[in-house]
Amino acid sequence: MDKKIDENNIDARVKTYQIDNDGIVHLKNGIKLELSQCKLIPPGEHKYVNVVMMFSLENMMNPLTKCPNCNSTIPWDRPILLMDNNQFVYPCEDCTWVWDPQTFNMVKFRRELQ
Ligand SMILES: [Zn+2]
Repeated sequence: MDKKIDENNIDARVKTYQIDNDGIVHLKNGIKLELSQCKLIPPGEHKYVNVVMMFSLENMMNPLTKCPNCNSTIPWDRPILLMDNNQFVYPCEDCTWVWDPQTFNMVKFRRELQ
């Protein structure tokens, strides 16, 4: 096995406060990564999943207004990720990575893209 870790594979070692509202991951060694280019491991699993898209609360059919984990208010411009396992991930500034099965307003989102 190649021991070199792909630096775009991030996991719980990257804290959510290291992610800014533009979706940039600020690693401790000064490297910046695009969160949308990263891969994440869902809790309890061992395989990385890809980010399908990054968006903000206003594109959700039933927006989360509070973090499901710590109950802090979610800023409207905070990025939320849709992963290719159909789960949503919210990098809460106040606690941790929150994986949530939410409906996504794809119709509205597509309309806004056009
Ligand atoms: Zn939280």
